[in-house]
Parts: sequence; C-alpha cells; structure tokens
Amino acid sequence: MAIQLKDLDQLKVMRRAGIVVAEIHQLIRDAIKPGMTTSALDAIASAHIKRSGATSNFLNYHGFPATICVSVNDEIVHGIPGPRVINEGDVVSVDCGAIIDGWHGDAAFSVGIGAIDAQDQKLMDVCEESMWVGIAAGKNGARLSDIGFAIEQYVVSQGKYGILLEYGGHGIGTEMHQEPHVLNFGKAGNGPTITAGMALAIEPMITRGSAKTKVLADEWTVVSVDQSRGAHFEHSYTICPDGKPFVLTSLDGGRAELARFGVEISDLLA
Ligand code: MG
Ligand code: MG
Repeated sequence: MAIQLKDLDQLKVMRRAGIVVAEIHQLIRDAIKPGMTTSALDAIASAHIKRSGATSNFLNYHGFPATICVSVNDEIVHGIPGPRVINEGDVVSVDCGAIIDGWHGDAAFSVGIGAIDAQDQKLMDVCEESMWVGIAAGKNGARLSDIGFAIEQYVVSQGKYGILLEYGGHGIGTEMHQEPHVLNFGKAGNGPTITAGMALAIEPMITRGSAKTKVLADEWTVVSVDQSRGAHFEHSYTICPDGKPFVLTSLDGGRAELARFGVEISDLLA
C-alpha cells in the first residue's frame, strides 16, 4: 500500500478532528482525580465527540468496546475503561481519537494522579519528550527511520527504560491506522522519505523495566510482564504543502514544543 498523501483541504478536515481530540485531552486532564472510575473518563470523551459532531474511531475498532483507551500503571496501552477506580499515585495513560467527515485524529498522554513517585514522573517526562524529539526528527525530506532512531537515542540517553518493540506509530488519514508503521527504535536513514501531505501518529511507549509485554485475557490490555509501570504519549502531525510540520492534535499546532528544537510550524492550518 502506498502512503496516503493529503492535500491542504483534506488536512484542514484532519485538523478539525485533531482539535476534537485535543479538547478531549484537556477535558480529561481537568477532570481526572482519585476516586474516579476509568469508565467516567470514557463518558467525558464520548459526550465531547457527540457534541462536536464527530464520531469515534476507537468504538468497535476490531471490537474495542469503548471510546478511549485507559491504561493504569503496569497497563501500558489499550486498556478498556470500566469500573476500575483511579487512585492517588497512579500513572494513567489515556488514548483518544475522533473522526470528522471521514478524517481521523489520534493522540495519547500519560498523567500522574496527585502526589506521585519521582521516577514515575521521570518516566512520563522522558516518554513525552521522546515523542517531541521524534516529531522534530520527522521533518520534510527526512527518512522515516530517522524518527525511531531519534526516539530511541533520546530514551536511552535518559536511563534504563524499556521501549516497546511490538507497538509503534502509524500513518493516519481516512483510516486511523495506515501505512507506514513507525518504529520507536532503529537505525537512521532508512525507509520512505517524509514529504508534504504525509500524516503520521508518533507514539512512543516505554516502561521503567522490561520492554516485554503480554495481552490480558480481555484480549486488549497490554501490560508489562515484569509489572513495571509504563507511559504512552502520542500526537498526529503532518507536513504541510509549504514543507513545514504541523501537529494536528495539539491546540497550538505544536508551535511552542517544536520551537525548542528550532523547528517552525506551518501557518497553513492555523
Ligand atoms: Mg492512539
Ligand atoms: Mg495511534
């Protein structure tokens, strides 16, 4: 399958989907607190999708039974919202998506609940920064594997973390998951050249211990086999027709974060 290239009008619709996802993130960050169930977070996302005129890309995806994924502590990704109660000190990873007029957005974050372990905070900080490092590396004219190379180099430089090998980022557009698969590790200089119109979801997943995972009996929840805690950050970004990047699922398009790397975002989607 060829990589789907989007024109500016299509990217404008993807931006609308991305804003819905960014708003869900904000609503959940504002609401999440000890004593809440993970299904209460799902309800927040579901209500916002409805009032935004969007639809859910997660609900019924290969049978997934909810609007978002909520993964707590040693659960790293694909946790199913339900009666589980969120406690002080937990690390909660929330993955959200939305569709507007057939175009998808997909983004995730991890957050500590109340007072948390300093090493858990560092886990999340390293994961989040590795995502920005990866997006900054995935500039117009770079090779696809430059992204995973940059992510891995950064994570390794920060300490002993497990980088999940079986899961990674992906192309996104008229489907949530498209070609190409984006590894979070590897050598630089391989794979397709990143060009205008590509849209990629960059999503490092790391643990404080082993990178080995297993899937629980619910057939979705991915946990670390050594029960170490995990973090997951994700944004969907594109290269605009002017050759500059734009983070579709960030409210400011990634302007502030990418500026730290000397990367200027496009004004075409602002
Ligand atoms: Mg996601
Ligand atoms: Mg994704």
